[in-house]
Amino acid sequence: MSIQSKIEWTDTTWNPVRGCTKISPGCKHCYASAFAERFRGVAGHPYEQGFDLRLVPGKLLEPLSWQKARMVFVNSMSDLFHPEIPDDFIVQVVNVMMQADWHTYQVLTKRSARLRELLAGPLRFAAKQKHIWWGVSVEDVKYGKPRIAHLRDSSASMKFLSVEPLLEDLGQTEFAGLDWVIVGGESGPGARPIEEKWVLNILRACRKSKVPFFFKQWGGVNKKKRGRLLRGRTYDEFPTMEIRPIPDRAERLGMMALMESKFPLSHDLIQIGR
Ligand code: SF4
Repeated sequence: MSIQSKIEWTDTTWNPVRGCTKISPGCKHCYASAFAERFRGVAGHPYEQGFDLRLVPGKLLEPLSWQKARMVFVNSMSDLFHPEIPDDFIVQVVNVMMQADWHTYQVLTKRSARLRELLAGPLRFAAKQKHIWWGVSVEDVKYGKPRIAHLRDSSASMKFLSVEPLLEDLGQTEFAGLDWVIVGGESGPGARPIEEKWVLNILRACRKSKVPFFFKQWGGVNKKKRGRLLRGRTYDEFPTMEIRPIPDRAERLGMMALMESKFPLSHDLIQIGR
């Protein structure tokens, strides 16, 4: 089973980790936390433990079971580079992406220093893969811009930004060397406002450096009402995707069996704690 995502810039979400902790102003109205906490204490529900951080080894092999090529948002309900997630587990997640390489993976983090560090070390084997896109979240100047610097500094081949929720004007920005920029406003109760001039500033920087630009939404309390038109049009640009052959069912089952035999972890949840 996979979740067909409603997020405009992906097809599917894959969550081998659940839960996270807040780190910066962009987390204030974290949709994942709000969703997960609704089910705290509901016996048998995937979010029975609310938004407490835990590994879900039973989900590791999921992409190998998907026959059609998809864009996969990795850990929409967590942050793969959270400090409490062991390096070994992150390596296993990335190993699955290496095996199931007919998909395109979008790995988005606010822990950009750890992303840079691991790409230079235990994840070096995946840094140059064109089907794995490494991204950082940017919400403002103070917290967001250092993340752009970490990403730029990293050995990642495919680099992207998710500038959402955009909370202020980013000022002078330089996007040369990046492969994709997504921009969006915050949605839901208490949504903080976004201004058109902030978005246009980012669009201009993307155009200057020939970086594909995706405008996700204006957001607000009723995001459908505000829509996603910017100056009368939508912006749905993506980087170029690699098309790779898709193994048949027997091959995929063989890959799953092989990987399963390598994983030392059981298929149970591993709770890390609050
Ligand atoms: S880093 Fe992402 S998943 Fe974690 S609390 Fe912040 S917004 Fe939520």
